[in-house]
Amino acid sequence: MADNCLFCKIAAGEIPAQIVYQDELVVAFNDIDPQAPVHVLIIPRKHIAGMNDVVAEDSCILMRIHQVAIDLARQLNVAESGYRLVNNCNDDGGQAVPHLHYHFLAGRKMTWPPG
Ligand code: AMP
Ligand code: ZN
Repeated sequence: MADNCLFCKIAAGEIPAQIVYQDELVVAFNDIDPQAPVHVLIIPRKHIAGMNDVVAEDSCILMRIHQVAIDLARQLNVAESGYRLVNNCNDDGGQAVPHLHYHFLAGRKMTWPPG
């Protein structure tokens, strides 16, 4: 766990969040400022600062994140209608929290290009 990392603290249960799924590798919780009817953040328990810091040994974590997204989509009945899984990396990508996370967005028609 990294010092003063918001998402490490949420994963450790030190800061409350509306957790929708957790296991030994990942935690998923509702975004505090939702940008869609469904907006869940999926994070690794391991502190990884961002996309550029992912290494080959993290492959199980990344697979699990995708599996959680697929399971959420099926549970929420949006697998067929569609959804979006987004990672923002660094300043130009719009990353505000330096702990790897994926936004699972669903429940409305998404636009392209993104803002
Ligand atoms: P990003 O801009 O990609 O780094 O996304 C960070 C996300 O974390 C934003 O969508 C925020 O709304 C969300 N967020 C920040 N603090 C919290 C919190 N305490 N609980 C849940 N989501 C949060
Ligand atoms: Zn962290």
